[in-house]
Amino acid sequence: MKLGSNCVSNPCLKCPTDQSCCRELHGLKINEAEYTQLFAGKSEHLTVTRKGKLYELSSLGNGPCPNWDQQCQVYGNRPMDCDLYPYTMGNVFEGDGEVYATYHSRTECPLTAELLGPRENAEAMIRKFLTDTYGEHCKVTVRYDEGAARLYHLARRAAAKAKRVLAGEKA
Ligand code: SF4
Ligand code: SF4
Repeated sequence: MKLGSNCVSNPCLKCPTDQSCCRELHGLKINEAEYTQLFAGKSEHLTVTRKGKLYELSSLGNGPCPNWDQQCQVYGNRPMDCDLYPYTMGNVFEGDGEVYATYHSRTECPLTAELLGPRENAEAMIRKFLTDTYGEHCKVTVRYDEGAARLYHLARRAAAKAKRVLAGEKA
């Protein structure tokens, strides 16, 4: 077995699913810096979708993450979305100098009880990731997904649109 790229202890080595979340990558959200550092030159193993400043990665043909070889080879430097697991980011909406993101813990990790930390820590990680991605000027809102995230976004968009229409009428 190859060793990972550093000596950080990896609790996933005892994963009962043999690290299924790394062997089948689905919708990993990363930013440009993470892509350049960890995935550039490996795109033949991936489908890569750009959504604004985010990249969404899935492995091709149900293959493993290109950074996986019996274990994560970049574990100490893995993307925030991997570090966050078994929490995971859901919807990310961007517009008008704001970014709004949801996260949840409805994942299939069998070690959830052991690995799931406090929500405050997860939110701090996501907040830093989004600030790094979108810039200090961007207002960041992070919410645990109770199912109302999309409604919240649509209501904000409707309010912003109504404000623009009103401003246009007054001009
Ligand atoms: S995060 Fe969970 S599912 Fe993924 S490798 Fe670790 S223990 Fe397994
Ligand atoms: S970067 Fe590492 S932790 Fe993240 S999916 Fe790939 S192998 Fe797993």
